[in-house]
Parts: sequence; C-alpha cells; structure tokens
Amino acid sequence: MAVVKERLMDALREHFGFDSFKGNQEKIINSILSGKDTFVIMPTGGGKSLCYQLPALMSPGCALIVSPLIALMKNQVDLVRGYSSKDNVAHFLNSTLSKAQIKKVRADLTAGKTKLLYVAPETLTKQENLDFFKELEISFIAVDEAHCISEWGHDFRPEYRRLKEMIDQISDNLPIIALTATATPKVQSDIVKNLALNKANIFISSFNRPNLYYEIRAKRKKEQTIKDIVKFIHLHKGKSGIIYTLNRKTTEELADMLVANGVKAVAYHAGLDPTTRAQRQDMFLHEDTEVIVATIAFGMGIDKPDVRFVIHYNIPKSLENYYQETGRAGRDGLEGHCICYYSHKDVQKLEHLMRDKSLSEREMGAQLINETVAYAESAVCRRRVILHYFGEHYETENCGQCDNCRNPKEKIEVKNRVVIMLKAIRALEERFGSEYVINIITGKTSPQINTYRHDKLEVFGEGKEFDAHFWNSLMRQMMLEGLIEKDIEEYGLLKVTDKGTKFLKKPYSIMVALNHQFDEDAMDEEEE
Ligand code: ADP
Ligand code: ZN
Repeated sequence: MAVVKERLMDALREHFGFDSFKGNQEKIINSILSGKDTFVIMPTGGGKSLCYQLPALMSPGCALIVSPLIALMKNQVDLVRGYSSKDNVAHFLNSTLSKAQIKKVRADLTAGKTKLLYVAPETLTKQENLDFFKELEISFIAVDEAHCISEWGHDFRPEYRRLKEMIDQISDNLPIIALTATATPKVQSDIVKNLALNKANIFISSFNRPNLYYEIRAKRKKEQTIKDIVKFIHLHKGKSGIIYTLNRKTTEELADMLVANGVKAVAYHAGLDPTTRAQRQDMFLHEDTEVIVATIAFGMGIDKPDVRFVIHYNIPKSLENYYQETGRAGRDGLEGHCICYYSHKDVQKLEHLMRDKSLSEREMGAQLINETVAYAESAVCRRRVILHYFGEHYETENCGQCDNCRNPKEKIEVKNRVVIMLKAIRALEERFGSEYVINIITGKTSPQINTYRHDKLEVFGEGKEFDAHFWNSLMRQMMLEGLIEKDIEEYGLLKVTDKGTKFLKKPYSIMVALNHQFDEDAMDEEEE
C-alpha cells in the first residue's frame, strides 16, 4: 500500500505544520505505512521522531514507542500533544505514573483515542501489560535509541535484548521500526540480529557534520593545558561551550581555575544534588554562564543550538562517544570548534577505569579505546576517520575543517610497503589481527608464531627496517583506503578486500602522511 504523495504532504502539514520532508523521512514513512520492518540510522537532529510519529497518526490503532529514558518520555509526549488539539493522542506508560494515571491511560487506549504510546522497556517486561496490549490494535512498534541493544553501543540496556521476544507476544508480524543516531557497522548488525530485521528496509543518512572543526592538541602539564584552554576561550569571548572531563573532581577544579581566569564557568556532574544540577543546566541554557565543565552525565537531551565549542580535557572512551559529545556543538549549522587534548597518560587512565570489569568487557573497551587513539594519532583528515568509523566512505582532498587538512603533514610513497602488508595478511590466510600481522612483518617471534611456523613465511621480517609504529600507521590508512578491513563479526581479523586484491595484481602509487608522534616527556600530569 504505497501512500499517495499528496495524502502524506497533507498529513505533514496538518499534524506538524511543515511544508516538506527532511532527508529520507518520506521514504521511511512510506516503508512503515506499507507494513515493512524499517531500520533508520540518522544523526541527532536529523528528524527521526517524525518518522514514526506521522505514520502513527495516520494508521489505524496505536503505535508503541519504546524509549530508554523515562526523563525524556514526558518531553516527547508533550511535543506530540503540542501539535494536536487532543491531549489523549499521546501518552506514556512507565513506573512514574500513579495507579489513577495508569487507569486513565488504559481507558484512552481501549477507547481508541491514543495514537502513540511511549513505553519503557521495563513496561514490556510486565506480563499484565503485554496481555493488555494484546487486546488492542497496535499499528507498529518503534524502537527508539535502538543502539541500546548492543554491548558495542554507548548505552547498553540489557532489557532491550528481550524486546523482540516481548513484541512477538503482543502479536505476530507487528512491523518494527528501529531508530538510532549511533550505529557503527558492529552495532548495526547487533540491532538487525536482535530484532530479527532480516528483510527490513534500511535507511542510512550521512553522519557528516560539515560545520564542525575537529582538532587534536597534545596535552601537556596541567597549568600549560589550562592556559591553552583559557586562551582559546578568551578568543571566543561571550560564546557558549562545553568542556568534558573524565571525573567529577576535575570538573570542579577546572571550573574554579577558569573562574579565576575571568571565565564564567560552572561544573556539572552526577554527584551534585538535582537542584544544583537543574540550576546550572538552566544557567547554561540561558547564557548566564559561558562554559560548563562536565562529565559525560551532561548533554543527553540538552538542545542548545548555539554551543560554539566542545573541548575534551581527556580523550573519550570511544570514537562514538566523541562523535555524540562533539555533536552538541553547532546544532544551528554555524561554527562549532571541537578540540580534544590527547596524552598517553589519559589512555592509561581509561584502561585503568576498566580494571574491575569482566575480561570480555575489558577487551571490548580496549578495542574502543584503540580506535580513539588511532584517531588522535592519525595525520589524515579527522572527518574521514570519524566517518569511516561509522562505515561511511568520505572522499576528500582537503575538508578544510580539521587540523590535519589545514596543516597537512608531508606525504611519502608507500606502494611497496602496502604490497608487503597485503602479502602478509594473505600469507596468514586472513586469520589474524593487526598485532600479529605486524609482528610477522617486522620479524618478531613469539611462542604462537613459532608453533604455527610463521617465521618460515616469505614475508617474515620483510618490513623490519620500519618499526611497529610505522606499520600500525600504514595499516590504519590502508583501512581508510578500503584495501583491507577488519572483520566485524570476528572482531579484529584482517581481511584483504576486492580493492586490495586488485592492488596486489597491479600496484599503483600511494602517498600517505604518517601518524603524529606525541612527545611523552612533555606530558606529565598528576591528578587524582
Ligand atoms: P532526532 O530525533 O533525529 O534527533 P528530532 O526528531 O528531534 O531529531 O528533530 C530535530 C528537529 O527537526 C526538530 O526540531 C523537528 O521539529 C525538526 N523537523 C523534523 N522534521 C522536519 C521537517 N520535515 N521539516 C522541518 N523541521 C523538521
Ligand atoms: Zn579534514
């Protein structure tokens, strides 16, 4: 049932007062209205909500929207109600409602007055709710923030794992629309598997934020770094910005030092009482403070369009976190400057924070940190590295909006060395990860290498005149070029792509800029 374009446009105007769809919205809505499972990957601010709100309003029955944050549910419902003349068109059902409120919501649902019902995943774990929903006409299920399904996502919620099983109890063949703003290929495949979206229509929008400027700065001694930050803020006098730090104590310290240097700044973290937190958030929203120094507790659901800079005082624990956190800059499409201070010490701190976690969580965490390190040390376009992380190929000579493009490093010819790398991966039958491959190339032995007799391979030691740092850097760039890839199912195993195979048959010139080297001695920092 393809919906006639005019009917859709009329509904868009009638319910939301908009004149046109943004990006993939129209295609997505058509997909849902025709009863297909639909998977939407769209960056924050892209207009995801409308993708399920409009079809919910147009379909017979009520749509269930699964949303992880009880705090944001009320907001969402208020927004929908704001567009409509009837308050009972949207409701939410979660643990914050009183018995009387629940009764009212149920009555509206039974009477068929409600088109959108927001629920927490916990709501669906209760059998009495499932039994109630079974009796209703449900149009479709929308799973918002679908990345919560994946341990590789940044907000893993175990209850999300059970959604499919619960949805199936409500009715057979209920169409599912899953939406997320953060899907690396790994997270995407987890979502598809978990919600069984095998035949879904998938809509992926670009994650590029052309107005954001990305920059890495070496983190030096504390006073020096703070001086650097103060200088930057003074150059952006009167503009709003967020500084993210790793822990609560640092937010307070840093805010104090900024204030002492004439910057209007406040600290924000989960350890503050709710009143103070709300107060400081308001100060930031209403421009009573220029800078908020925060842990990552700050930002979820904050919609301030004119944040002009986001500074990371410590490197984030994943590139996905970095993308989300920097994404809060320049929402209005104007300037957004994103600076991340980088030091090896901070990498160790992140690793240290995982010490009490299980082995598998530590391994997963280490891989995510690795990607951030690679981003920081890379001399190629930052934008290209970030988008590559989201599975997007971004081709550019010079994006003009990152430090590496503005101050390019000299490039060197690596054709023959690329050949060595490809040959090594092939010789190892694509069954090993990066460290192992580099050991082979540089001629390092290990018990495992001896057992497999890989020291007898022709490529063993063939690249020993360059160190592991060089080969690591080259490997990263070969991934960006699409010559090799990491298997996302068996995380880490290196494979030669079709493009890589072609290259091996007929090598051509490849020029790359090698990674930045960070001077260890210049960075020492004692905190916590
Ligand atoms: P997301 O959930 O993807 O972060 P939202 O659903 O919050 O994005 O939408 C972001 C903004 O875009 C909202 O202010 C919304 O009203 C607006 N918006 C969505 N669709 C349209 C449209 N077709 N035309 C104009 N504005 C739109
Ligand atoms: Zn660039």
